[in-house]
Amino acid sequence: MNDEYFMSEALKEAQKAFVIDEVPIGAVIEHKGEIIGRGYNRRNTDCNPLMHAEIIAINEAAKIMGDWRIEDCTIYITVEPCPMCSGAVVQARIPRVVYGAPNPKAGCAGSVINLLQMEKLNHRCDVKSGVLEEECRNLMKEFFKRFRKKD
Ligand SMILES: [Zn+2]
Repeated sequence: MNDEYFMSEALKEAQKAFVIDEVPIGAVIEHKGEIIGRGYNRRNTDCNPLMHAEIIAINEAAKIMGDWRIEDCTIYITVEPCPMCSGAVVQARIPRVVYGAPNPKAGCAGSVINLLQMEKLNHRCDVKSGVLEEECRNLMKEFFKRFRKKD
């Protein structure tokens, strides 16, 4: 199992958001070759600005780990994480972040700011981008195309 495999699992989560008219972003957390957390964006469904894919996956993984620290894990996210989720990744001490498509308007893994690798913060992550980037980007494109047609 490699990064592409786990990203394809994150894409499955993103699809779940897509079918309920949510911005299609998905995340999974891998620990020793197994997925211990999954999430997809549910902002509208839950009427809650915090219900991003990453937060839901972190919640699940922390319960399974029995610790607020989610060490020895990789989080796979279909789109570059926002400020809140990048902050949550740092707080959870997740050592490695893999994302698919960049987010030039809100991405905090380097596009707007790089919260995942700030020298002054007490935790820094290894970051890999561009895994299944086309698939992740196309799902977003398809979503916004559909959204525009409705208006
Ligand atoms: Zn987020």
